[in-house]
Amino acid sequence: MNNIFNLPFENLENYFESINEKKYRATQLYDYLYKKRTYNLDSMTNISKELRDKISKEFDFSFIEIIKKQVDIDVKKYLFKLKDGNLIESVLMYHNYGISLCVSSQVGCNMGCKFCESGRLKKVRNLETYEIVEQLLLIESDIKDRITHVVVMGIGEPFDNYDNVMNFIRIITSNKGIDLGSRHITVSTCGVIPGIEKFMQEFKQVNLAISLHAPNDEIRNKIMPISKVYKLSDLMNTLKKYQNTTNRRITFEYIMLENINDSAECAKELANLIKNINGYVNLIPYNETENIEFKRTKKVQILAFYDILKKSGINVTIRKEFGGKVDAACGQLRAKSL
Ligand code: SAH
Repeated sequence: MNNIFNLPFENLENYFESINEKKYRATQLYDYLYKKRTYNLDSMTNISKELRDKISKEFDFSFIEIIKKQVDIDVKKYLFKLKDGNLIESVLMYHNYGISLCVSSQVGCNMGCKFCESGRLKKVRNLETYEIVEQLLLIESDIKDRITHVVVMGIGEPFDNYDNVMNFIRIITSNKGIDLGSRHITVSTCGVIPGIEKFMQEFKQVNLAISLHAPNDEIRNKIMPISKVYKLSDLMNTLKKYQNTTNRRITFEYIMLENINDSAECAKELANLIKNINGYVNLIPYNETENIEFKRTKKVQILAFYDILKKSGINVTIRKEFGGKVDAACGQLRAKSL
């Protein structure tokens, strides 16, 4: 049975039309699910009993389950159990500008980035849309507050699960429901070009972040296998096209890995690579993990790298760190309980 939280608003309208019901039934149902947060069909009394029966035969209203929560000052990490027993995680971050949620898009990931702990667990399967939507619904109900920003930066490569992730975005941005602003949503990719191509046509207002992590193919090939499939020059051409189509600023994520990509030459090369793109670089202090050989670049070196970019006219920030204590930091999202 199809889960009700898989359906973007238009699909729900189409369903009602297909059974000769008025389209506004979709507005009513969305209002219960996403505004009132009522999930019990029996309490939806402005929908006839007969129709409620039909809906319950057609759709599953079940939820994934929070099985563990770890709390720090400005971060909460949630472990979810899916119906087939797989485990995924989401991380909630309290910023000065709002509350942002980092959702997972797959069980495991096939991109194989060498520095990433999450990627060590090979992809088991894509998440269905409802499994991403419910991460948000359950966490909002846990914190009794509204999430203001969503980043698709948890476990998984969103453009390796394009349709389900995009339906998730359609659902959370619908003004009939959660009504989150598209500009408050960011999708992060390691550079899957066909995904970027589609995304720029369909979601012009949603932010795009690129996990760049290297200023040239030689270094990138060593740490990110995807770059053997999609070369940097092709990626950059695609991003220029993205910019012409959407006029949006692109975020470049750049993890600082000691003696790998953190030299002054790298900084200059990076500045050169992106100087014609309206973007900004987010320098990410690497979160060291037990299993991986990479080291975090020292603070002074990060600052030196930052300075070179700044002086070359590149917008750059150093990422605030969250969740080190609860293993919720980037790349550490991995169900330890496995
Ligand atoms: N597959 C997508 C989204 C998931 S990764 C992507 O590649 O963008 C989210 C971000 O966390 C990426 O920029 C990734 O490179 C970064 N990351 C992975 N491991 C990390 C670590 N140990 N320390 C800091 N950032 C890390």
